[in-house]
Amino acid sequence: MSESKIFDCRRCGYCCQGETTVSLDQADRERLSAHLGLPFAEVKERYLRVTGKTVQMKTVDGHCIFYENGCTIHEGKPWRCRQWPLHPSMLADSSNFEVIRDSCPGFKADLTHEEFRLAMGKG
Ligand code: SF4
Ligand code: SF4
Repeated sequence: MSESKIFDCRRCGYCCQGETTVSLDQADRERLSAHLGLPFAEVKERYLRVTGKTVQMKTVDGHCIFYENGCTIHEGKPWRCRQWPLHPSMLADSSNFEVIRDSCPGFKADLTHEEFRLAMGKG
């Protein structure tokens, strides 16, 4: 079973909702700045929320500032957004697998942890 057999994004936007977002590392910040064609200082001012050393995207009306019927910065989005929902922590931890599977309607219905591991080449 391949990744495409266990997961098909429904573009529901659930993973872009909430009052916080994933955090951005240095490469994410540079990619976002290049994608938007803006100096980082301006990107930070307009789009980012900095709390101590944590840099996240601002949220508007309960969703990421870049969400509008889907992600509007696809090529510039943070690596954690690219990875979602196939998170490596799900391989070893079945309870983590269940939490993420149940939060994302793109997963095949009734997908088991074993099927997931097989699809990810770790069976
Ligand atoms: S929650 Fe899952 S199905 Fe919905 S947009 Fe996010 S990745 Fe796609
Ligand atoms: S950057 Fe795109 S994929 Fe990531 S949370 Fe924002 S809208 Fe969603």
